[in-house]
Amino acid sequence: MASVVTGTVSEEYVDTASRPSALRITDLRVANLHGVPFRSSIIRIDTNQGLVGYGEVRDQASASYALTLKSRLLGENPCNVDKLFRKIKQFGFHGRQGGGVSGVEMALTDLAGKAYGVPAYALLGGRFRDTVRCYADTPSVPDPREMGARLLERKARGFTMLKMDVGIDLLWDVPGAVIAPPGAREDTTTMHPFAGIQVTAAGVARLAEYVDTVRSVVGYDVALAADHFGHIALDSCIRIGRALEPFTLAWIEDLIPWQFTDQWRQLTEAVAVPTCTGEDIYLLDGFRPLLDAGAIRVVHPDPATSGGIAETKRIGDYAQERGIAMALHLAASPVATMACVHLAAATENFLALEHHAADVPFWNELVTGLPDPLIRDGHIAVPGAPGLGFGDIDEELFRRQLDPRDPVFFAETSHWDHETSHDRLWS
Ligand SMILES: [Mg+2]
Repeated sequence: MASVVTGTVSEEYVDTASRPSALRITDLRVANLHGVPFRSSIIRIDTNQGLVGYGEVRDQASASYALTLKSRLLGENPCNVDKLFRKIKQFGFHGRQGGGVSGVEMALTDLAGKAYGVPAYALLGGRFRDTVRCYADTPSVPDPREMGARLLERKARGFTMLKMDVGIDLLWDVPGAVIAPPGAREDTTTMHPFAGIQVTAAGVARLAEYVDTVRSVVGYDVALAADHFGHIALDSCIRIGRALEPFTLAWIEDLIPWQFTDQWRQLTEAVAVPTCTGEDIYLLDGFRPLLDAGAIRVVHPDPATSGGIAETKRIGDYAQERGIAMALHLAASPVATMACVHLAAATENFLALEHHAADVPFWNELVTGLPDPLIRDGHIAVPGAPGLGFGDIDEELFRRQLDPRDPVFFAETSHWDHETSHDRLWS
């Protein structure tokens, strides 16, 4: 093959059915799914060479967070992933608002990999592992024996790490377990330090009994994390954390809003259970306070909020220097899941990737060209195919899973082509 050099990129070894240097973005469209396991908008970025890239907006987030980026991407070369990421990252924020930038970054990385004929992990510097460990989130039930049985079923499927909910939702109906102002149970918007909710000694004992019973069913030969403690303040968190020490939990998650760095530090210093947060934080800059203060033991970015593939690797690397382990939060279709598989393969600091769809039987089939089942013995094999490594989306299944509230299937989006503002954060 003749060597073709365009600009500074040698294309001698590249499949020149794609010409990376001449690749341009021509369109950005979305398909709104539900039940995968939640509501997710899948992004498709089209190019002038027929290559398409897929990404996924964070679960429950608005597709408009991605669509507003379209005008900033049209005509650009998607192989310049970092350049485009820096161009668009001002349009993301914490929580679901990070979903557009993060999902677009996944789609750009998919395209860059396909254009150069390499898997996404190769663009990040190669891989540390051949399989990616998944942990299975498990919906909560009040009876700890039944909860244990649910977890045991996932363990029997090969998962080596599990997660359950342990918190005041188990206590509201227990007399004398919770002291709270009127309306506190229904209030989901008052942050923990200000909600005025206290767990009593009886409530703390009840939670410890619950976890003790679950552990007796599921055993101590599997990692088990706990989440959804409720909007309780630091002192109740410390008392619960101490009571759960005997059960060797992998981590206790999101007890305090991530914004309160010093309260996290106090909790981490007070309990001998790993503390964990991060699923709503956008960009490494957002993680720095917690990581610099050593305020948590496990950092838990959701790559569909934290900035996508490369930015989340940077978060993992930064945490590693500070002795803080990284696990990945996710509640997504196989599209964002595969983005996370490449990220996890390419990041040395990695514990496990959340799988939220263990009860969704068709989940796997939303994309083609991957092993079925995708998760075997609790792990996903890192694919070697270009980009995110799946063949295509399954159109029939996508159409079946369209969100009835807004059943868009990659409809044209030309009304977003000229969306504009004064795109500058300084003057
Ligand atoms: Mg959580």
